[in-house]
Amino acid sequence: MNTCLSVVVQTPAHSAIAGLLSYQSELPLAPGTLVRVPFGKRETLGVVWDDDPQRPDPELHATIRPISGVLQGIAPLNAAWRQLVGFAASYYQRSLGEVALAALPPQLRDLSPTQVTRRLKRAGSSGAGDAAASDLAATLTPEQAQVLRRFATEAGPFLLFGATGSGKTEVYLQAVQELLARDPLAQALVMVPEINLTPQLEQRFRERFTGRYGEDAVVSMHSGMTPAQRLKSWLAAHQGAARIVLGTRMAVFASLPGLQLIVVDEEHDPSYKSQEGARYSARDLAVYRSQLETDPTGSGKNCRVLLGSATPSIESWHHSRAAAEGGRYQRLLMPSRVGSGALPTVRLVDMAQQPKKTVLSPPLLQAIAERIARGEQSMIFLNRRGYAPVLQCSSCDWKSECPHCSAYRVFHKLDRTLRCHHCGLTDRVPRACPSCGDLDITTLGRGTEQLEEHLAELLADVQRPDGSPVRIARIDADSTKLKGALQAQLAQVHSGEVDVLVGTQMIAKGHDFRHITLVAAVNPDGALFSSDFRASERLFSLLMQAAGRAGRDATQGLKSEMWIQTMHPKHALFAALKRHDFAAFAAQQLLEREQAGMPPFSFQALVRAEARSQDVAQAFLRLASAAAAEVDDFARVTLYPPVPMSIQRVADVERAQMLVESASRVALQRFLAAWHGTLHATRGLPESKGLIRWAVDVDPLAI
Ligand code: ADP
Ligand code: ZN
Ligand code: ZN
Repeated sequence: MNTCLSVVVQTPAHSAIAGLLSYQSELPLAPGTLVRVPFGKRETLGVVWDDDPQRPDPELHATIRPISGVLQGIAPLNAAWRQLVGFAASYYQRSLGEVALAALPPQLRDLSPTQVTRRLKRAGSSGAGDAAASDLAATLTPEQAQVLRRFATEAGPFLLFGATGSGKTEVYLQAVQELLARDPLAQALVMVPEINLTPQLEQRFRERFTGRYGEDAVVSMHSGMTPAQRLKSWLAAHQGAARIVLGTRMAVFASLPGLQLIVVDEEHDPSYKSQEGARYSARDLAVYRSQLETDPTGSGKNCRVLLGSATPSIESWHHSRAAAEGGRYQRLLMPSRVGSGALPTVRLVDMAQQPKKTVLSPPLLQAIAERIARGEQSMIFLNRRGYAPVLQCSSCDWKSECPHCSAYRVFHKLDRTLRCHHCGLTDRVPRACPSCGDLDITTLGRGTEQLEEHLAELLADVQRPDGSPVRIARIDADSTKLKGALQAQLAQVHSGEVDVLVGTQMIAKGHDFRHITLVAAVNPDGALFSSDFRASERLFSLLMQAAGRAGRDATQGLKSEMWIQTMHPKHALFAALKRHDFAAFAAQQLLEREQAGMPPFSFQALVRAEARSQDVAQAFLRLASAAAAEVDDFARVTLYPPVPMSIQRVADVERAQMLVESASRVALQRFLAAWHGTLHATRGLPESKGLIRWAVDVDPLAI
């Protein structure tokens, strides 16, 4: 007698079927079992799912097809994993099938059951640690010790608010170490924003744990890995052989049967929010997952979550206010740098007092030159790559607009190209104006390439202590395109081969540079008056993180400085930065947001529409909006009129968006769930002809 199973398969994002299909099987199979099933004319991977108690038991009849096979040897995905995936799908308004299958390594889908079995055999032979356990742990500072004590005894979730260089990584390492030593089955998940930017962190984890627990005890998970590597890591985590998973946002979905600790390093980083498919926040899901993996009665399972940052997101900061004021997170403080290293002195240069078109002010240049002469390093950052953001003709009004996007193409001098950073369109730089033929084409504004060139000219006469000429390096998305290039360039900085490092925000984050004593932001003003209410939060955090790269080596007793060139030296943001006072900055932001009814005091979702014309994109949103009046909880949400996105056209696709807001997260969620069908139906109307796609972004980061 066959049984009927609910099986989740991959389905297109907004297809009418949520991804839960019925199949029959000769044997009953536990929820979470991986199976192969026929789907249309092909065969596909599926996950046996929990039966929805609301669903009438489907009668077994001839039309229900049997499953094709079971992936033998892979234990079922556990209930907590299934709940996490189910929650993510419903919260972020995507189909269960899409989220569940995207959370599995692609090779599970593509390999035959026999091939998977072969991989399993190979993965299973991991030797446990036999090397002598060397104790590499540092002696804790009093602040670190106090934080770890609270972490061990209180419930969490925890927000570790620790200055740059206060030793947060050491806290993560020791929290993991304590857990692994205590419980031989325990696993830890450590998330980082972008693994390629922080090879050091991975190395520190490997050094600390592979000696004791074996090479396979630490596995990585990120999109830079090959499909075969991803499957290997995934299997090691799923089988419990891996004790530590180190990964980017996708790792939040790793199957970890022994999960007891989740660390989210640099929890404020925007890259934790996915910008495609299900637009989930891995940080928020990490907090949710830790609850799922904890038994509230306190008897069995317990999973702690530790978010860490020197510049927490305003949301997490707000959640960690005093419990008496409604806070839900424990705030742990590490205000001091390890050793006697002081945070850098912040210097503001008033660019209004400098001659027009000054790129690097004389006092800043002087300070850089002095450091070179002393053998110290400087880091200059400018958040714009290429040579110049715009090329223009001096006699007519031609500018280097992209024909397919509402944006200018950027001039890259090194390979003499004009490149669109949105659609990728690349052409040779024209010799003469394409519009009037004039030869006088000039650049407007500047990027990192030009800054590098400019610095080389200005510092041409400066010598290093040994009399050799200055060495300048540039790190940005262009200089690091080749595999391994970033690692090689970072190694040059660490070894002291480079005197001045120029780059985009890539260099401002996370790196533990030991010899940098000066950091400068050349032109950060753009974000001060942005229409995006999160722009100043991002700027403050970027500048504070950048400042955090300076003066990290206390042993040398060197004084470090952070220079900021600005037209607005009196701006409150800079005043807080000068005092390294994140708390004051956050308090001001929270006050403004409360008055304006912005998150975290309200909850938002964006509906985005892409179409061949702006009219169609907006018409779709307007129609769906008009039909929303019939939907549950409509009275508790505000629907704003559709507007073009800030970069309205990309690759000939017109983009529009509409904001939905509510004072209640629950009401917003209920409304979105109920409205989903309306959006789907609206897409089928004749007025929506020409609509390419639509998507909902819950808790959007950029508006
Ligand atoms: P953060 O992550 O807070 O920026 P790190 O964990 O990178 O800081 O620590 C900064 C530096 O201090 C690192 O080089 C680290 O090895 C060192 N460090 C951390 N904790 C200690 C300690 N207890 N004793 C000595 N050095 C430490
Ligand atoms: Zn011209
Ligand atoms: Zn373009």
